[in-house]
Amino acid sequence: MAVPVLPALADLVLPRVCAGCGLPGRVLCPGCARLLTEPRPAQPRRFPDGFPPTVAAGPYAGPVRPAINAFKEQGRAELAGPLGAALALAVVAVRLAVPGPPRAVLLVPMPASRAAVRARGRDHVRELTGRAVTELRAAGVTAAECRLLRRRGRVRDSAGLTAAERRANLAGTFAVAGPLPVADLLVLVDDVVTTGATLTEAAGVLSAGLGRAAPPVVAAVVAATPRSPDDLDRLSRPLRND
Ligand SMILES: [Zn+2]
Repeated sequence: MAVPVLPALADLVLPRVCAGCGLPGRVLCPGCARLLTEPRPAQPRRFPDGFPPTVAAGPYAGPVRPAINAFKEQGRAELAGPLGAALALAVVAVRLAVPGPPRAVLLVPMPASRAAVRARGRDHVRELTGRAVTELRAAGVTAAECRLLRRRGRVRDSAGLTAAERRANLAGTFAVAGPLPVADLLVLVDDVVTTGATLTEAAGVLSAGLGRAAPPVVAAVVAATPRSPDDLDRLSRPLRND
């Protein structure tokens, strides 16, 4: 009879509050989770040349911001479930956007720098990728994870840099890490896209490194900086928690 007590005990020790809005009860309340169920194309303000077709599960604004930051920076690893499910939704949406028959997808996590992994004690994008693959397979999608990219060299903080400077700063950051497994579609995955510079650099390296044999390269993220009035309107609606 001890087993049912454990979750209740865990809740006493670690009271659950929504990482988005602070409402007690769940790690992400239904109202906040719903913000990550309307996939839309990511639209960086200045589309970098070569920006891959990218779908985000929701806007990186409102309660989504603190939820992702709690997962990424504050060690709330239990958010991998709902955020990984959101990422899976974005993968499904971007897969549907590619012409042709349904494709087997290979999720390529954006590689973290050693410094970031050391600071956080974990690679949160890989955690999201693993959960997304589980969700996709449960939904009948042929999906796998492949660490096809690795980082090389250091990147300085991009805050305050112009778009061209960011591009130059990122050049040479990534390299193809190994042979390409069988796949119809490569989906770069990350938590958030803001300027799109990092995804653009990674997609370019994949396409160039794999040559003509490369399948299409697209991207999926949990959230993207909102650009359209529609996105902002959606956020201004009152959140319902039912
Ligand atoms: Zn909430």
